[in-house]
Amino acid sequence: MNQPCTGCGILAPEGTRGCRAMFDELAIRQWYSPLAYPVRRMMVDTYALQHPDEFCASAKSLVAHLTGLCAAIEHREHPHLLRVLLEWLDSQPALVKPAFPAARGRVTIVSAYEASCVEEVHASADAWARSVWGAYAPLQPQARAWVAEALARPVR
Ligand SMILES: [Zn+2]
Repeated sequence: MNQPCTGCGILAPEGTRGCRAMFDELAIRQWYSPLAYPVRRMMVDTYALQHPDEFCASAKSLVAHLTGLCAAIEHREHPHLLRVLLEWLDSQPALVKPAFPAARGRVTIVSAYEASCVEEVHASADAWARSVWGAYAPLQPQARAWVAEALARPVR
Protein backbone atom coordinates (compact mmCIF):
# COMPACT_ATOMS: atom_id res chain seq x y z
CA MET A 1 0.00 0.00 0.00
CA ASN A 2 1.30 3.43 -0.85
CA GLN A 3 2.16 5.67 2.08
CA PRO A 4 3.69 9.16 2.26
CA CYS A 5 7.48 9.47 2.57
CA THR A 6 8.32 11.29 5.80
CA GLY A 7 10.98 13.31 3.96
CA CYS A 8 9.50 14.51 0.69
CA GLY A 9 5.87 13.45 1.04
CA ILE A 10 5.52 11.38 -2.14
CA LEU A 11 3.29 8.34 -2.00
CA ALA A 12 5.37 5.22 -2.40
CA PRO A 13 5.17 1.58 -1.36
CA GLU A 14 6.11 1.51 2.33
CA GLY A 15 6.50 5.30 2.30
CA THR A 16 10.04 6.38 3.15
CA ARG A 17 11.46 2.95 2.31
CA GLY A 18 9.88 3.02 -1.14
CA CYS A 19 11.20 6.52 -1.77
CA ARG A 20 14.67 5.40 -0.73
CA ALA A 21 14.41 2.38 -3.04
CA MET A 22 13.77 4.74 -5.97
CA PHE A 23 16.85 6.73 -5.02
CA ASP A 24 19.00 3.60 -4.77
CA GLU A 25 17.74 2.35 -8.11
CA LEU A 26 18.41 5.72 -9.73
CA ALA A 27 21.94 5.68 -8.31
CA ILE A 28 22.60 2.23 -9.76
CA ARG A 29 21.14 3.18 -13.11
CA GLN A 30 23.42 6.21 -13.26
CA TRP A 31 26.40 3.94 -12.84
CA TYR A 32 25.82 2.70 -16.38
CA SER A 33 25.02 6.06 -17.89
CA PRO A 34 27.41 8.86 -18.73
CA LEU A 35 25.97 11.14 -16.06
CA ALA A 36 28.72 13.43 -14.93
CA TYR A 37 29.91 13.22 -11.35
CA PRO A 38 28.68 16.75 -10.47
CA VAL A 39 25.12 15.80 -11.48
CA ARG A 40 25.21 12.59 -9.45
CA ARG A 41 26.62 14.45 -6.48
CA MET A 42 23.95 17.16 -6.86
CA MET A 43 21.22 14.50 -6.73
CA VAL A 44 22.74 12.94 -3.61
CA ASP A 45 22.86 16.34 -1.90
CA THR A 46 19.32 17.15 -3.04
CA TYR A 47 17.92 13.84 -1.82
CA ALA A 48 19.73 14.13 1.51
CA LEU A 49 18.40 17.65 2.13
CA GLN A 50 14.89 16.53 1.26
CA HIS A 51 15.25 13.67 3.80
CA PRO A 52 17.33 15.41 6.47
CA ASP A 53 16.17 13.39 9.46
CA GLU A 54 17.94 10.42 7.93
CA PHE A 55 20.85 12.01 6.07
CA CYS A 56 21.57 15.29 7.83
CA ALA A 57 21.52 14.18 11.46
CA SER A 58 24.94 15.61 12.25
CA ALA A 59 26.01 19.22 11.70
CA LYS A 60 28.79 17.98 9.44
CA SER A 61 26.48 15.99 7.19
CA LEU A 62 24.02 18.87 6.90
CA VAL A 63 26.83 21.30 6.09
CA ALA A 64 28.32 18.88 3.55
CA HIS A 65 25.04 18.48 1.66
CA LEU A 66 23.99 22.12 1.92
CA THR A 67 27.34 23.51 0.75
CA GLY A 68 27.39 20.84 -1.96
CA LEU A 69 24.04 22.02 -3.26
CA CYS A 70 25.15 25.64 -3.00
CA ALA A 71 28.19 24.73 -5.10
CA ALA A 72 26.02 22.94 -7.67
CA ILE A 73 23.61 25.83 -8.08
CA GLU A 74 25.66 28.96 -7.51
CA HIS A 75 29.23 27.94 -8.42
CA ARG A 76 29.00 25.78 -11.53
CA GLU A 77 31.97 27.61 -12.99
CA HIS A 78 34.11 26.39 -10.08
CA PRO A 79 34.64 22.65 -10.68
CA HIS A 80 37.14 22.24 -7.84
CA LEU A 81 34.86 23.69 -5.20
CA LEU A 82 33.54 20.26 -4.10
CA ARG A 83 37.11 19.20 -3.31
CA VAL A 84 37.77 22.51 -1.52
CA LEU A 85 34.64 21.94 0.57
CA LEU A 86 35.68 18.39 1.45
CA GLU A 87 39.11 19.55 2.60
CA TRP A 88 37.52 22.30 4.63
CA LEU A 89 35.12 19.84 6.30
CA ASP A 90 38.03 17.49 7.03
CA SER A 91 39.76 20.34 8.86
CA GLN A 92 37.03 20.11 11.55
CA PRO A 93 35.67 23.66 11.38
CA ALA A 94 33.43 24.72 14.24
CA LEU A 95 29.88 24.15 12.99
CA VAL A 96 26.55 25.00 14.53
CA LYS A 97 23.70 23.03 13.01
CA PRO A 98 20.75 25.24 12.05
CA ALA A 99 17.17 24.00 12.23
CA PHE A 100 15.78 22.29 9.13
CA PRO A 101 13.25 24.36 7.19
CA ALA A 102 9.64 23.23 7.44
CA ALA A 103 9.25 22.87 3.66
CA ARG A 104 11.45 20.57 1.57
CA GLY A 105 10.62 21.65 -1.97
CA ARG A 106 7.74 20.62 -4.19
CA VAL A 107 9.79 18.75 -6.78
CA THR A 108 10.77 15.22 -5.73
CA ILE A 109 12.83 12.32 -7.02
CA VAL A 110 9.87 11.14 -9.10
CA SER A 111 10.65 13.24 -12.19
CA ALA A 112 14.30 12.14 -12.31
CA TYR A 113 13.30 8.56 -11.59
CA GLU A 114 10.80 8.53 -14.43
CA ALA A 115 13.09 10.31 -16.90
CA SER A 116 13.76 8.21 -19.98
CA CYS A 117 17.10 9.60 -21.17
CA VAL A 118 20.19 11.21 -19.70
CA GLU A 119 19.21 14.68 -20.88
CA GLU A 120 15.86 14.31 -19.17
CA VAL A 121 17.52 13.12 -15.97
CA HIS A 122 19.78 16.19 -16.07
CA ALA A 123 16.86 18.56 -16.55
CA SER A 124 14.78 16.85 -13.86
CA ALA A 125 17.68 16.77 -11.43
CA ASP A 126 18.25 20.45 -12.04
CA ALA A 127 14.63 21.38 -11.32
CA TRP A 128 14.61 19.10 -8.27
CA ALA A 129 17.83 20.63 -6.89
CA ARG A 130 16.57 24.18 -7.42
CA SER A 131 13.29 23.36 -5.71
CA VAL A 132 15.04 21.98 -2.62
CA TRP A 133 17.58 24.83 -2.60
CA GLY A 134 14.61 27.21 -2.67
CA ALA A 135 13.02 25.41 0.27
CA TYR A 136 16.27 25.94 2.17
CA ALA A 137 16.16 29.70 1.51
CA PRO A 138 16.37 30.51 5.25
CA LEU A 139 19.67 28.63 5.37
CA GLN A 140 21.14 29.98 2.12
CA PRO A 141 23.04 32.89 3.75
CA GLN A 142 24.68 30.45 6.15
CA ALA A 143 25.48 28.06 3.29
CA ARG A 144 27.16 30.90 1.36
CA ALA A 145 29.11 31.88 4.47
CA TRP A 146 30.39 28.30 4.84
CA VAL A 147 31.39 28.19 1.16
CA ALA A 148 33.20 31.51 1.58
CA GLU A 149 34.97 30.14 4.66
CA ALA A 150 36.09 27.07 2.71
CA LEU A 151 37.33 29.21 -0.17
CA ALA A 152 39.23 31.49 2.21
CA ARG A 153 41.41 28.65 3.46
CA PRO A 154 44.97 28.73 2.15
CA VAL A 155 45.58 26.29 -0.70
CA ARG A 156 47.82 23.44 0.37
ZN1 LIG B 1 11.03 10.80 -0.01
